[in-house]
Amino acid sequence: AVSSAEEFDFFYLVQQWPGSFCDTKKGCCFPDTGKPAADFGIHGLWPNYAKCKTRHDLLVDGAAPGLEMVTKRKKKCWPEFCNNGEPLKIAAIADLLKQLEANWPTLACKSGKSFDFWSQEWKKHGTCSDLGQHGYFATSLGFKAQYNLTAILADAGIVPSDDKTYFLSSIKDAIKEGTGFTANIECNRGVAGETQLFQVYQCVDRAGENLIDCPLPMTGNCKDRVQLPAF
Ligand code: 5GP
Ligand code: 5GP
Repeated sequence: AVSSAEEFDFFYLVQQWPGSFCDTKKGCCFPDTGKPAADFGIHGLWPNYAKCKTRHDLLVDGAAPGLEMVTKRKKKCWPEFCNNGEPLKIAAIADLLKQLEANWPTLACKSGKSFDFWSQEWKKHGTCSDLGQHGYFATSLGFKAQYNLTAILADAGIVPSDDKTYFLSSIKDAIKEGTGFTANIECNRGVAGETQLFQVYQCVDRAGENLIDCPLPMTGNCKDRVQLPAF
């Protein structure tokens, strides 16, 4: 087979907090399988280059970044869409479907079919990995199961709440303590403007075997104090 896998340095395993995904002006929709659990859900496993200091660093290279600039920047920071001729086949992940429905649900107001979300992530990111279709999804599920972020945060007293706020540093410390490795954190804004913990980016070695400390800092729109809204 033609190898479409590109050189890259590490993966981000990105998980989204459903309470934060939904509490935005845009809102969310539940998948056709029903309301997901109040648990982090997988967004994707993303091959990445380590040479970009931050995801936006190359923006400052150009005076007035336009579309071309953005495309160039993204190409430099990570590979994507490495093989559009290899769409995700349901047969390749048949044994994982139940686990995927539970752990990788779609919340976007699109088709309501989580398979469409998985297909998109496979096409954009998975085709640049060396993992193959089954391996891509099995690897992602494996890390999520091995490091239960919802439980790790709860153990540190960080539980979903619509009025509590938590120090960003305690969230980072809890993840470091609970997984052994540093992760990056991304925040978003709720309908009332609150700063919410939106996504956790754990870093995985390029073989897809072990967590590593995240090699790049991320300015993820957080503030010193953040919320973890109920879902
Ligand atoms: P946004 O700009 O909305 O944060 O991200 C849009 C999309 O760009 C993400 O869903 C993901 O597919 C891709 N993306 C954003 N940041 C990264 C990154 O650091 N690495 C990789 N590989 N993809 C990213
Ligand atoms: P990315 O942001 O990874 O490049 O692309 C995500 C794509 O999957 C978008 O087209 C988005 O609409 C779709 N999508 C479907 N369900 C979800 C979801 O639950 N979360 C996110 N972030 N994107 C979703």
